[in-house]
Amino acid sequence: MEVFAVPDLPEITAGDDLAALIDQRVDLRPTDVVCVASTVVSKAEGRAYDMSDFEAGQRARAIARRLSGITGEDKDPRFAQAVLDESEELLMTAPFLLTATRFGHITVNAGIDRSNVPGSDLLLLPEDPSASAAALREGLSGSPPVVVTDTSGRPFRHGQRAVALGWDGMWANRDWRGEPDRDGRELGVTVQSVVDELAGTANLVTGEGDGGTPVAVVREWEFGDHDGHDMLFRDAETDFVRQALRQWSY
Ligand code: GDP
Ligand code: MN
Ligand code: MN
Repeated sequence: MEVFAVPDLPEITAGDDLAALIDQRVDLRPTDVVCVASTVVSKAEGRAYDMSDFEAGQRARAIARRLSGITGEDKDPRFAQAVLDESEELLMTAPFLLTATRFGHITVNAGIDRSNVPGSDLLLLPEDPSASAAALREGLSGSPPVVVTDTSGRPFRHGQRAVALGWDGMWANRDWRGEPDRDGRELGVTVQSVVDELAGTANLVTGEGDGGTPVAVVREWEFGDHDGHDMLFRDAETDFVRQALRQWSY
């Protein structure tokens, strides 16, 4: 397989036809996987806002005051309000905001970005990244699978990496359960999150800074002959770490 960045994409702004911009710059094959940084999906979908678009309520002001005290930095309560607005659940309010978005992704500050957003203060994640992926796919020649990615921190390990927020045209996971290992033993639990691995692969070439390469194509990778399914985000009832965090206080 190979992975390459789509060249020469412009700065994306609200209303841009992102699929057409990609399609004009690469000869896509139906078996390619097109990985798109959520940053540009959000920009095209008009998810850029200014701080002044948010009016901080009581809870946001309390959160910002406490975070300012803990971190020694001046935290804007309007930013806390934006995070609250984008979140279905707050899992940690200090020493940073860890939240669950409405579409199930758990990340710091609801994934709201303050880098790579010229002209605006904040960029919110796409509201429904799998719907975004489906819409992009429809606009691409040959309708290849699309994965919408975002850089995200991770517990237990330093460093960040990209994960999939949404996808269309492929399964999220390759299910190895029931298949044999080299010893003939049947695999009992292994479900491989291939959309996350493709997101990480794409991020190797898209990078994080001013590279201007938000879209990568993974070519000649195959899902193979496996079962697949689309469960990527754990539900709150069966996620023991999430439940433990509900009991935790800082
Ligand atoms: P995120 O991981 O989705 O939050 O996106 P990043 O901010 O890490 O950006 C990923 C890549 O996309 C980097 O190479 C950025 O330089 C690039 N990028 C971000 N916005 C734009 C844009 O509007 N146009 C172009 N051409 N590149 C962009
Ligand atoms: Mn981001
Ligand atoms: Mn990134």
